[in-house]
Parts: sequence; structure tokens; C-alpha cells
Amino acid sequence: MEHSTTHLHPTAAGSFLSTKWMHWVRSARLCLPGLRAFRPLRTLCTSIPRMNWTPPAPTAVPAPPIPPIRDIHSCANVNDIKPLHLHLDWSIDWDAKCIRGAVTHELEVQKDGTAHATFDTSYLDIREVQVDGARAAYQLEARRGPLGEPLRIHLGERTAGDRVKVAIDYATTPKCTALGWLSASQTRAKKTPFLYSQCQAIHGRSLVPCMDTPSRKVTYTARVNSSIPVLMSALRRSSASDVYEFDQPVAIPTYLIAIVGGLLEFRALGPRTGVWAEPPDADAVQWEFERDAEPFLTAAEQVVSPYVWTRYDSVVLPPSFPYGGMENANLTTLTPSLVCGDRSATDVLLHELCHSWSGNLISCMNWESFWLNEGWTVYLERLLLEKLYGPAHRGFSYIIGAKALRDSLEGFQDTPRFQRLVPEFRDGEDPDDAFSSIPYDKGANFLLYLERVVGGLDVFAPYIQAYFTTFQGRSISTEEWKAHLLAYFATHPTASQALQTVDWDAWLHGEGLELPVRMEYDQTLAAEAFALAARWIKAIGDGVDGAFAASDMQGWNANQVVVFLERLHAGPRVPLSYAARLDETYSLSTAQNPEVRLRFYEVALEEQGGRYAEEAAAWVASQGRMKYCRTIFKALYRVEPALAQRTFLENESFYHPIAAAMIRKVRIRSTPTTTGPRLVV
Ligand SMILES: [Zn+2]
Repeated sequence: MEHSTTHLHPTAAGSFLSTKWMHWVRSARLCLPGLRAFRPLRTLCTSIPRMNWTPPAPTAVPAPPIPPIRDIHSCANVNDIKPLHLHLDWSIDWDAKCIRGAVTHELEVQKDGTAHATFDTSYLDIREVQVDGARAAYQLEARRGPLGEPLRIHLGERTAGDRVKVAIDYATTPKCTALGWLSASQTRAKKTPFLYSQCQAIHGRSLVPCMDTPSRKVTYTARVNSSIPVLMSALRRSSASDVYEFDQPVAIPTYLIAIVGGLLEFRALGPRTGVWAEPPDADAVQWEFERDAEPFLTAAEQVVSPYVWTRYDSVVLPPSFPYGGMENANLTTLTPSLVCGDRSATDVLLHELCHSWSGNLISCMNWESFWLNEGWTVYLERLLLEKLYGPAHRGFSYIIGAKALRDSLEGFQDTPRFQRLVPEFRDGEDPDDAFSSIPYDKGANFLLYLERVVGGLDVFAPYIQAYFTTFQGRSISTEEWKAHLLAYFATHPTASQALQTVDWDAWLHGEGLELPVRMEYDQTLAAEAFALAARWIKAIGDGVDGAFAASDMQGWNANQVVVFLERLHAGPRVPLSYAARLDETYSLSTAQNPEVRLRFYEVALEEQGGRYAEEAAAWVASQGRMKYCRTIFKALYRVEPALAQRTFLENESFYHPIAAAMIRKVRIRSTPTTTGPRLVV
């Protein structure tokens, strides 16, 4: 999933491609045919001197022994039963807004004496259960908050190694938290209704009864009856007269199951990449991504390992999609806010593509280890920015991320256990409650720090390939990651010694607003933005007009404007009169780029509402991406709560259930109660 956005330089990619990295890219392309023989990255980094260390082969350092599964967010008996495959036979009822049908699970018993299988469900209408073709007894247990209602199915006493088929007839209900149903009028084409899903973290269980834990992976097939075309997070096998068939041959955690239905047009972006979009936007969407999609895939294969998923396709959803992107296998879902007309946000596509390795190929065992998905993905994304565009872009991306990280850490000051890289959940807490930039940016900084500790990219790059080769296809915990890292670098005495200086506890379990180590980044692209922000902060502090003009930002890209506004937002409060002056000088409230618009409203609503509160409320009515709507509602509830509440109630049906729930929580947090303790969620 995407959380905080950083951007590629919109236009100057070529000019930033230094001779060194052009060499690297060319070398990378040369070894593409016969992908199995990809060359270790260090041999391509010609400017870094080789060390007298021969890195172990990618598979030479084995993974530590597989521990028992721990996942407090699943009620499934995953240590007794291993799910292998599931088949979905669905009919979509577009009028009733529900999916009816059956799921058939193929299971393998892990322990002698196992007599039942427990599946996760949430708000599902369970109709019948069959075990190996015969009707079977089951209990739908009492609801356990966001974990849902466990479905306990009697299998009869089994022995380890037994294979069992469990078929469940069921239907989704209006309370389903995974599905967003939009009317035709809420789409761009305005011709047919639209359907999309978002299963991460634990919403898959409201779409299909399953062992809804990232610790277990299944292949899946699906047959979907629908009067409107549908796509799934799998390879398309056939489509004929309202029946669509899919096959996901690579085992995935259930949070990567996805369905999208609506009027969509496909555009090829490269030999293995493509994008679906609503017809009115198809040309613009193709233009936005066609320069970058295939080169991103090629570069990622060179840094990590060959791409195993056959195709990398995306779909641009209507604006109510709550995230920037979601890395559903073979079908990344993307917010339309990335289609800015300047290719400035394609790094989100790069982020989702990197999940093909971190998250999808190697998954976190549980939501405490979520940072292994996101920290690694952000680390890879920024490493690829350096490879493709130069080191300034890697540093710039960390600088933008640092602000989002700071905001997230501040937001959890009342819940410091969520400030940890490995958060501590209490029973019945939803993983969505801890969702923030922390696993993304603290995680990426930790990996960057380790890269520097062991001696730089020259030493770290072969480890990256070893990590992804060793654990591919697995779901792992933070402890397994750490054990393998230490074992790998035991072959390098200097690195091994340096790793002993790492304060593991502070990085993994530390709380507070600071990283355990002060990190330095390349500031080339940020320097001008910082300097202009300093001039404004001084003018505000001195209460003077200052000499500002539109030419202050001449030649800037959207990212630099974002960094400028974030620096202002981090400083002393900006009075409304100065916000208006900023707007007059740089036309920020009318910026087409949503990242710029968001940061401007954050600055303008720091002190009071007024004109910009009205504008922000009107804008947020069409922004379903949580990064925008949560932030704006947070600001509005603080300065103009009545306007915020009215705007939310008028547009509630537009937002995805996950986003609507989070906005409701924003309101609770923002509204002090007089009758009892302040609610903290
Ligand atoms: Zn992500």
C-alpha cells in the first residue's frame, strides 16, 4: 500500500541520468535476456571500488528455522491447518450490491488429532458448509470486534498430511468493509456502476471466508458471473458472455485478493505492463505512466531478482479509492489523483511495483511485522530512484518522507506503542488503527542506516538479492529477517563488527519523535525550497511583508513546492493573512497538483478557517484518497467543526467504508468531550 507520496522529477529525468547511472542502466539492459543470469548489482556500480570480500551466493546463507505462526489478528487455526488453494465461484448482484456464491478451500492438516478448521469471516451471510462433498456442521461464533465472527467447521478427527476440501456457500452483506460500490453517476464514464475492493489489512474476511492472515499463502482460481466486466488480482484466463475466469498461480496472502468491476479500457504500457482506466481517462492515464512502467520493472529486476508474476497491470479507480495505490497481485489499484498531467506522481507506481518483491513475494507474518512489507518497499523504491535519476532524487525522497514520518509520530503521542517500528497491538485492535508513515519511513531509514553501517551500497546490494532469494514465497517475522541479516554479514568481518553497534531495540521498539540515529540525506533538490521557507518564516516572525514574487519558484517542480510548504507547516503557525499572501504570490489554492493543494490547505488552516476552509471542504468532497481526506478533515474539524461535519455527512456515501470509518475517528479525536475522558482512538 502506498502511504506518503514522494515524487519523481517531472521533466528532467534525462538530465539527471549521470554517466555513471547511464552505464548502469545500459549494463542492466544487457543482461535482461535469460533473466536467471542477472548480474549482482555491485558489479554494475563501477564508481565504487570493489572490496576484498566475495559476497556469498544469494542462496548460500540459509533462512533460520521456520517458527510457529503468531498472528493475533486472525482467528484461524493456522498452526493446525495449512491452506493451499481456494476457488471462488461468484455471481455479482449489481442491484443488491452483493456478491453471492461459494469458496472451496483445499487444506492440508498439519497436526494429528485436528478436528476442526476455523476461518475468519466478517459480516458474511453463511448458508451452507460442505467437507469433502458432504454437508458439515459449523458454528458462526460471536463477533470479536474488527476481527469478525470466527467460522468453526467440524472436520472429524484428522491426521497430519490429510488433504481436506471445504466448500462454503455464502453472500456478502451491506456491512462488508472490503467493497466499495459506486453508482454510475459516481464514475467518470457515468454509464455503469463500479465495484472495487480493498482487503488489506483484515478486510478480506468480509469478502470471502478464509484464513485471513498474511502468514499463510494460497494460489487461487475464480469464475465470476457478472453483467458488467470484472478484473481480479490474477491472470485473466477467459471471458465469454458475462463469465470471467481467473488464475493466480503464485501463492499470495488473502489480503491480495481483489476484484474490480466497471466500464474499463486497457492500454498497453510495455511488453509486460499495462493499465486499465475508465474510457474518458484512458488516453491521459496511458500518457501518465507509459514513460516509466516498463523501465521501472526492468530496473527492479536488476536490483532484486527476476519478476515472477508474468504481467504487471494496474487499474486506475474512481476518486473514492482510499489509498494512493494497493499492490494487489497482477492488478495494482491506483488513485486517479496520480494522473496529474505531468508524470510527477509515477513513483507511486514504482512503489506498488516494488511490492512485487517486498510484500507479495516475501510477506510479513503478521501486522506487527508490516514494516518488512513497507519499509523494504520504500527502501527499494528510493534506491531505484537513485539508479534511474541520480542520488539527489533518493535524498529528496527521504526528505519528503521525513515530514510525513514526523507527522505520524506526533499523531501517536497518546499511543506511543504505535510509534514503534514493530507496534504493539492489544486484543481486538484493528491494524488500520496503527496505519501511518511509520512502517514506511522508519523502516526505510532503518534499512538505509544498515546499508551505511555495513559499508555502503557496494556491500549491501548483494545482501538485497540474497534476502529476496532466500525468503521468496515465505511469510516472515522481524526476528527471521534479523537472524538472516546477521548470518549473511558474518561472512564480512568488518560489517559484522559494525552491526554489533546497532541499537536494535531502539530501532525496532523505540518510541518518541526521533529516529535512534540522525540521518543525513542529499539536499541538492531541497536546498532552494528550504531557503525560501526560511525567508517566509522570518517575514512572519518579524511581521513584515518581505519581498516575495512568483519568480521565487521559477523552474521548480511540484515536489519542491511540496517541500517548501511542508517546511512552512513545520515552523511557527502561519496567520491567515500570510496564507492569503502565499496564495496570491504562488497561486497555490488553484494548483492542479493535489499534493501541492493538500500542503497549502494544511498551512492555510493552521490558525483559523474562513475562505480556505470553505475551499478545502469543497475540494475534499471529491477526494476519497485517505492521505487527502483524513488530513483535510483533521484540519477542518479543528478550525470549523460544523463545516467539517456537514461536508462529511453530505458526502459519506462517496467515501470507501475504510475511509469513512477513519474520518469518523478523526471527528471523535478532534472533539473534546465534557462528560468523560477524551476518547483516544
Ligand atoms: Zn506500500
